[in-house]
Amino acid sequence: MNIFKKNSNISFYFLLCFFGLIVHVVYQIVFYINNVDRIAQNYNIISILIFSICALVLIKKDSYIALLVAFIEVSVFSIISVITIGWIYEFQLWLISVSIIEIIAPFKKYKKFFYVLAILNAIVYAALYIYVFTEFNTKKIFNVDVFFCITNVMATFLLIFFSEKMLKLSNILEKYTIKQEYDKMEQIANIDELTGIANRRKMKDILADNNILVGKEESEFYIAFADIDDFKNINDTYGHDVGDYVLKYVANFLKTQLGKENIVARWGGEEFLILFSSPTTKSKVSEKLEHIRYNLSQNELKHDNNTIKFTMTFGAVSSIDFKNIYDMAKKADELMYVGKNTGKNKVVI
Ligand code: GH3
Ligand code: MG
Ligand code: MG
Repeated sequence: MNIFKKNSNISFYFLLCFFGLIVHVVYQIVFYINNVDRIAQNYNIISILIFSICALVLIKKDSYIALLVAFIEVSVFSIISVITIGWIYEFQLWLISVSIIEIIAPFKKYKKFFYVLAILNAIVYAALYIYVFTEFNTKKIFNVDVFFCITNVMATFLLIFFSEKMLKLSNILEKYTIKQEYDKMEQIANIDELTGIANRRKMKDILADNNILVGKEESEFYIAFADIDDFKNINDTYGHDVGDYVLKYVANFLKTQLGKENIVARWGGEEFLILFSSPTTKSKVSEKLEHIRYNLSQNELKHDNNTIKFTMTFGAVSSIDFKNIYDMAKKADELMYVGKNTGKNKVVI
């Protein structure tokens, strides 16, 4: 409820009230020493009492009523002070400053009461001006004075209302920028720069998330290691750029073939790790990998004037046969090496 409370145990509203209390105590001393109007002095004592009570309530909980009372008190205090002591001490400024808090503070509850208070403050401000200058006759009041007073007060309070909208807008903008930065960071942290698919770090997170499903028959899944055969030869024969091109091609091909429900990540170098959430039977996984393997082996990649042919070897395991996902990965890697050692370009499952 109270956004200021996140980092401290003391409510921001309590601090506001405590500030009000200090101000009134200081005023009381100055009023007393300077023998200021009795009414102002007596009312200030009431102010001290009200602020003490409100502060006591607010230190325990965020009471909107206590806050509302404190705000009304500020307005009443400025009215009485201006009427009894005069315009030149600027007590009327409190009507503006308290309105700013009333309007921009992030209260959700009773928001309209706070708005009404701010509007009343604006009306009171203009009325006070006219009252003080007619009553004390310090200056003759002309129509133009009233005109400027009212338009300026209206403009000031409209700007205060407007500032609330501006704050909301800049809040939204800030959140948007933070979200963009966050997305960018997430992208850098989780996506392989060259191929644009998930990187090893991301895949490790995914594996950790899936660890609890290992060994459970009802949620069987597969993981597979896939490694490009004799990739070093491709680099050595055509150059590193062509090697990169092949990697991007393979990543893209695997991603399209595997669909949305399965995940492929670049585990490192020319090695990929696949997580099959579906299909989840041995024959289907085998069929899928076989299909991928066959298509890649038949492919003739064109890059500049080169025609590149290559193959891949796969090792896959089912989650049912294991206790944890790390043993699964280890076994899949071993099976892939079985494939490598027995002629490459094959699926071992
Ligand atoms: P095997 O069939 O046994 O897998 O042999 P291989 O040549 O594919 O495997 P090896 O581990 O001997 O070589 C892998 C090569 O992949 C060596 C390395 O320079 C290259 N490589 C690793 N990362 C990249 C990359 O990002 N871009 C390019 N172009 N080459 C890379
Ligand atoms: Mg290789
Ligand atoms: Mg390798």
